Amino acid sequence: MNTDYDVIVAGGGLAGTIAAQSVSYYSKQKLSILVIDRSTQFTPGQKNISGWTCGDAVSKETVDFMTERIKIPWTEPEIEHHVKGVMAFSPDRETSIPFDGDGYMLNRQKLPEVQNQRAQKMGVKFDFEINLTGLLYEGNQVTGVQGIDNKTKQPYKKTGKIVIDATGITSMLRNQIQNTTKIERKIDRRDIESTGRHIMYFEKGEQDPSEFDPDYCIIHLDQDIAPGGYGWVFPKGENKVNIGLGVEKTILDKRNKRLGKNDNVSSLIEEYLHRNKAIKNPRLSTDPIDKNNATGNFQVSVRRQNDCLVANGYMLVGDSAWMPKPLDAGGIGPALVAGTLIGKVVAEAIESGDVTERGLWKYNKEFINEYGYKTAGLEIFRRLIQTLTNDQISYGMKHFLGNLDVEAISKGEHPDFSALSKIGMMIRGALNKKLADGLRFTTQVNSWLTKHYYNFPETPDGFERWQKELHEKLDESNVKLEAYYN
Ligand SMILES: Cc1cc2nc3c(=O)[nH]c(=O)nc-3n(C[C@H](O)[C@H](O)[C@H](O)COP(=O)(O)OP(=O)(O)OC[C@H]3O[C@@H](n4cnc5c(N)ncnc54)[C@H](O)[C@@H]3O)c2cc1C
Repeated sequence: MNTDYDVIVAGGGLAGTIAAQSVSYYSKQKLSILVIDRSTQFTPGQKNISGWTCGDAVSKETVDFMTERIKIPWTEPEIEHHVKGVMAFSPDRETSIPFDGDGYMLNRQKLPEVQNQRAQKMGVKFDFEINLTGLLYEGNQVTGVQGIDNKTKQPYKKTGKIVIDATGITSMLRNQIQNTTKIERKIDRRDIESTGRHIMYFEKGEQDPSEFDPDYCIIHLDQDIAPGGYGWVFPKGENKVNIGLGVEKTILDKRNKRLGKNDNVSSLIEEYLHRNKAIKNPRLSTDPIDKNNATGNFQVSVRRQNDCLVANGYMLVGDSAWMPKPLDAGGIGPALVAGTLIGKVVAEAIESGDVTERGLWKYNKEFINEYGYKTAGLEIFRRLIQTLTNDQISYGMKHFLGNLDVEAISKGEHPDFSALSKIGMMIRGALNKKLADGLRFTTQVNSWLTKHYYNFPETPDGFERWQKELHEKLDESNVKLEAYYN
């Protein structure tokens, strides 16, 4: 196959630029790689018009995963601040649960600049201001991308042996893919969180570690403040913060009806900021490294990754594959894991001359074994949590979460709530008993799902059966969860 490049990376955001560097690393810089993005060269990796909207938090563990394997170090200025973990507060604020583990607060605007310089040094080429609209095909094989060059307003086409789609949650390449029935194109609206945040400086108000802590990323669970999601106060320094929240739209509508309000994400954030007594006189950051990025709204998926991540000549990575973790919408970690893994599979596939679905299939297995085995269980767990009242969440956090459960959640896994059977008789209130039943149920389903993911087929042949069984289980579980709580 004669192509413009060996590998085309569509989307030069976080996942795309890691993937490009990973391909370069594993191919010992032998493969030609082009990264294409619609942002300008001066604003690389910008997600949308409101900037690089993100909570900016990532665990050290996933950064180390990347650094150890493909030798990409992250330092200052892309790392802005260090934290010791995440602290989750119950709606009544009586329970705080520390999920310990070192982490970083990133500067998402600076990060792509640094990444791109590093990638360019490795020989990766970039085309900016290209709006990609679709894939090119030869028969049943993806052979490139097409779109519009925003600089010249001319049609744009580039061919490659493999296209890595890293264009984020709204991917038009995935939405319209024509050479596969295995890749899902769209997702349920209820699997998307509407989110927003500000990056702000402030004066210190009341000393209250449940409202601001320079060492911990604070999460507030509260169905009135952030229905179907959570509010966050993530420190970027002693007096700098990333503060925001995410909601699920249908649950927000119900909450508005219940409270007789008409709130949206932006009004909820203002209210959330206003009631924080530790943050006085907040103002949006005007630092050059936050330019065009101090405030913004965007969306993030909270479900399992796409059931299949590859087609002939095509692979998905990052948000385009719905990789953010269902429980907390953390998408940087899985993007680092997948972006790291993808390079080896790509280099080997091109080397062996098999860039078909079969030749790329290994990537599915490798991502699942490293990370993706747990996401379907967390999707079911998240659905359960979203249906709870504030009282149930407060009760559950106080009485149902043992040390092992906290440890499991820290590792991003579904807890097994082993203590629940022992305290069964002592649970107070019908709704809390229902919650305990729900947790036992999601634990059971999670264990089935995890096994099922570890049995993901070795080749494309067994996929249809595997996916059918997966969907039967998910559908059955969703019906049961709805019956519990409606
Ligand atoms: C409010 C909010 C808070 C979050 N907080 C956290 C957090 O604290 N921690 C965490 O781990 N994750 C968080 N996430 C998720 C995280 O931001 C994403 O998972 C991450 O940015 C995914 O990177 P990506 O490269 O896959 O996609 P993106 O960052 O969306 O990058 C996509 C790239 O593709 C380009 N592109 C898109 N479409 C086209 C097109 N048609 N043509 C050409 N180029 C295109 C874009 O310009 C962009 O550069 C949050 C998300 C939101 C919205």
